[in-house]
Amino acid sequence: MSENGKKSVELPVSITIRDLGEKIGSSPIQIIKILMSNGVMANINQIIDFDTAAIVCAELGVEATLEIPELKEEDLGEIPLWRKLIEDEDPKNLTKRPPVVTILGHVDHGKTTLLDAIRHSDVAGGEFGGITQHIGAYQVVHKDRKITFLDTPGHAAFTAMRARGAQGADIVVLVVAANDGVMPQTKEAIAHAKAARVPIIVALNKIDRDDANPDRVKKQLADAGLVPDEWDGDTIVVPVSAKMKLGLEDLLEAITLVADNCKILANPKGKVIGTVIEAKIDKARGVVATLLVQNGTLHQGDAVVVGLSHGNIKAMSGFLGEKIEEAGPSTPIQILGLNEVPQAGDLFQVTDSDKEARMIVNDRKEKLAEAKLNKKQASLEDLFNRFQAGEVRELRLIIKADVQGSLDPIISTLNDIDQKEIKINVLHAETGNISESDIMLASASNAIVVGFNVDVDGSASKLAESEGISVRLYDIIYRLTEDIEKALKGMLEPEKQEVILGKAQVLTVFSFSKVGKIAGCKVIEGTIRRNAQMRVMRNGEVLTEGEVASLRREKENVREVREGFECGIRVKGFNDFVEGDILECFTFEEKAAG
Ligand code: GDP
Repeated sequence: MSENGKKSVELPVSITIRDLGEKIGSSPIQIIKILMSNGVMANINQIIDFDTAAIVCAELGVEATLEIPELKEEDLGEIPLWRKLIEDEDPKNLTKRPPVVTILGHVDHGKTTLLDAIRHSDVAGGEFGGITQHIGAYQVVHKDRKITFLDTPGHAAFTAMRARGAQGADIVVLVVAANDGVMPQTKEAIAHAKAARVPIIVALNKIDRDDANPDRVKKQLADAGLVPDEWDGDTIVVPVSAKMKLGLEDLLEAITLVADNCKILANPKGKVIGTVIEAKIDKARGVVATLLVQNGTLHQGDAVVVGLSHGNIKAMSGFLGEKIEEAGPSTPIQILGLNEVPQAGDLFQVTDSDKEARMIVNDRKEKLAEAKLNKKQASLEDLFNRFQAGEVRELRLIIKADVQGSLDPIISTLNDIDQKEIKINVLHAETGNISESDIMLASASNAIVVGFNVDVDGSASKLAESEGISVRLYDIIYRLTEDIEKALKGMLEPEKQEVILGKAQVLTVFSFSKVGKIAGCKVIEGTIRRNAQMRVMRNGEVLTEGEVASLRREKENVREVREGFECGIRVKGFNDFVEGDILECFTFEEKAAG
């Protein structure tokens, strides 16, 4: 009961009419009638959204509130390697480090403007006369606390980093334009952040615009699984205007708040670990790389190994262009001295000498060449093998369809598939062609991409091939869901159990020079079948087990012989029947579910 004495119910973002009926104890017919009176034609299996369900509930005197979806363990991706390495540190050596924030969102929602606004709102940055360089990351100070921003907006960079298990951000700021709302790339960003186990803060941008509609966007966010805190959810939503520089302090405050909640730690004296933010070759200076130190302290002169490159750090500078001698956790720096251009997302570490670094690189190159030779498609079959090896517990899917009207039934049918041991986890579902970012997400999350009535972009199909990602296209929903179900069934590999079909007793033994011995038998129990296994027993002891090689009745080959009849039996690989032997016929059957 709610406070006003009304019956209340929590509902998900979408629900079938049948399930709604069950939840509120009304007949589906009644619900359909209410919908019809509101001009909505629906059948019992139709999915309606929360708003519609809430109207129906109101008419039935039930108060509906939105169910807050919980983030389940299986929705999460692998923990990045650098985090694992920090976890290896002795907890007593760990101290707080500045949070590393990345900004994601749909195109034109204001990511670049927001990053610039934050950068220039900062006094520390301003002191250098605004000649800050773009090195791919910067820091600001909010109430004496540093915050590091990755300055490379866009999913490509974010996913490329995560694809290598090195996603560097602690917090995602999701920019959503208040006039435009949740768009495809917004949803994609949510999927990326969730899979990377990174908390999301929403910057509700462009609130200065006349057509801004914050409430509508909050509702859309809730539907996408980000329930705003003012609605008792877990997601902080900060209204901002990047253009008018409004709400920026609140956003920074929210970041420090979330940072305090998620134990963002490192050991400044520990093993040096970090990630490449970006790297390029400069004609005058050689390889220039921006690194984010994640643990330990990096010093000028250190020997480092970064992905497939190495070198001694010749020079080190901060994002303001100032020369620095050392850099601790969460500090973005630019270094000179590497022999090759590393890739964004590569991890780096410090070695005792450049000689050691070179040896590590050679070793990696050899392993990489080997891995390329052995590279297998991440197909459903491969997933099945990995499941058997105990490596995967779920089938992750990225689903693209032509229209929303196709997506809903696909997802609801998939959800209906019985998933006991392996879960189907739809990481991302959206309308539109299969794009490069879908493949990247799949690669980063070991997922399979499924398309319904869509094409694969040229660049995406190339990427899928090089990354070994399985892309399956369908034009009939039934085929799609059936395939997935089959795959799951295959993956689930039903437990088999032995079933005894019947027993026969050997009455006499015939010898034939060509085929060996045939047991002349009488079936004393059940049935003897040709396509089955046979166990030969003498005095209660098992002599052998093998396939039935032949089964004959009066010289005719038969499929089965029933109790009370006589027959001739040969068993593969066994030739020593003796009168009185018992032949037990058995097979393996799938264990009934349950
Ligand atoms: P991005 O693609 O997400 O990086 O978006 P941009 O930062 O390039 O911004 C896209 C457009 O929206 C530009 O024309 C910006 O000037 C405009 N814009 C960004 N933030 C705001 C804002 O807070 N208010 C208004 N009115 N316009 C904004």
